[in-house]
Amino acid sequence: MKKKNVFAISALVSVLAHAQAPAPVFTPERFRAHVEFLADDLLEGRETGTRGHEIAARYVATQLAASGLQPGAENGSWYQPITFQMTTRGAEPSWVAIQGLAGEQRFNHADNVMVGLNSRESNFEISAPLVFVGFGVEDKRLGLDDYRGLNVKGRIVVALRGFPKGLPSEEGAHLSAEKARAAERHGAVGLLSIATLQSEKVMSWNRMLEYANDPAYAWVDTDGKAHEEAPGIRGRAILNGPAAEAVFAGSPRTLADIRQEADRAKGMPRGFALKTRVSMKVSSSWARVTSPNVVAILPGADASLAREYVVLSAHLDHLGIKDVPGANGDRIHNGALDNAAGVAALLEVARAAAAAPDKPRRSMIFLATTAEEKGLLGADYFGHHPTVPIAQIVGNVDLDMPLLLYSFTDLIAFGANHSTIGRQVAEAVAPMNISLSPDPMPEQGVFTRSDHYQLVRQGVPAVMLATGMANGGDKSWGEFLEGAYHSPRDDLSQAIDWKAGAKFAEVNYRITRAMADANTPPLWYQGDYFGDTFAPKAARAQR
Ligand SMILES: [Zn+2]
Repeated sequence: MKKKNVFAISALVSVLAHAQAPAPVFTPERFRAHVEFLADDLLEGRETGTRGHEIAARYVATQLAASGLQPGAENGSWYQPITFQMTTRGAEPSWVAIQGLAGEQRFNHADNVMVGLNSRESNFEISAPLVFVGFGVEDKRLGLDDYRGLNVKGRIVVALRGFPKGLPSEEGAHLSAEKARAAERHGAVGLLSIATLQSEKVMSWNRMLEYANDPAYAWVDTDGKAHEEAPGIRGRAILNGPAAEAVFAGSPRTLADIRQEADRAKGMPRGFALKTRVSMKVSSSWARVTSPNVVAILPGADASLAREYVVLSAHLDHLGIKDVPGANGDRIHNGALDNAAGVAALLEVARAAAAAPDKPRRSMIFLATTAEEKGLLGADYFGHHPTVPIAQIVGNVDLDMPLLLYSFTDLIAFGANHSTIGRQVAEAVAPMNISLSPDPMPEQGVFTRSDHYQLVRQGVPAVMLATGMANGGDKSWGEFLEGAYHSPRDDLSQAIDWKAGAKFAEVNYRITRAMADANTPPLWYQGDYFGDTFAPKAARAQR
């Protein structure tokens, strides 16, 4: 080779070395292959504790291994095994009896009462006087104190479902999820919930009835006990129609009147002692199953940042096999979009990150959780038993049910307003001509309804990423939530846009890379409710 040519080549090499590393390629075919495997009928809906979910977990670990990642669970394993206690309704019916001046009215489970199961006590009866506690929420920073002036020690409290109108929806959804704990703090032994006009719109009684005979799951801790958020609240039930009205018998206000007040902006009915008491009987039986989270690590390339971890998570489990009226005999809940699609994106991001010539600076954890559909339990277990110190987990992006039925042009990052992750998401996807839109369904409280919330509760800034409402998204979302969501129809017969799948994978690659490569880790904003509640000592960013 002549000298001149050698010089030309070395000049070219130096240009390449200074240019950005080539962007990884995301193909519709790869994305589709993952979804088609995970949503196959042979996996029988990937329910927690079933063989179908085990096979799915094996697939995920195998793919991550083939992509060059390292096992990220204890003892060099890909799997974080979790024992779950499954509480099933007993042969005897559970019931609620309401006693007042006019005598006793008894309702069996699923007849205007929904009796909650208890993972610490399988068969028991309790009986106590009732105290109405409004919405039953309490939070100093938000100035909420539904228990002021009320004595509920040893009583069963009656609370409205949902949260006061006008409260920010994510804070409200969080406080709704904390009601049993608030009741327990005040010494109550039971919690009865009653719909408001608003909560009935979000989740109707008839919709709830569809889940009435599902078993309840709880993860079992190292002490062998099922994990209960509020073990002091022994009895729980949701009351409807005549059962809900009966507890207010003889009281100064009717339920209709209370519901009217609760329906007004900032309406917060004050609590008072009721003139009735309740006895309830809970009958159930227990079994235990195990099911793993799959955890992989890609070590960070920058020695000064590698001890910090960015977590990309997606739930692998779905609803398994169960009878569905009107599904033409199809019983398999394949969960193609919920959430084989999220897992496919996770696998593709992991592959691209491991293959990138410029490795991520921070370490990355890829977490495929179990038991999301049982109440975010796999993620909660990971939050309580993280495989790296929780303080070193600096941010989380969760993928749950990306709706890949249209060519999305915007994204929703649930939780974007709480930390700098929102900004990072917007900047990372702008070069793809994708914009970030605000939460289009605040009444649904999505921020507290997927896995990332369990890491938020451990102080980790997090978002849940979904495809947006633009470019036909609103119509697709509407139809999906009405029809295929949590039904056997969420399967491969849907017109899945595989190009949108590849795009979704690329979006998440860019976002998690931005989080992993930035000089500063994701930070909660100054004065943010969730940061102040769960990470009071962490560093803050200016909004
Ligand atoms: Zn789901």
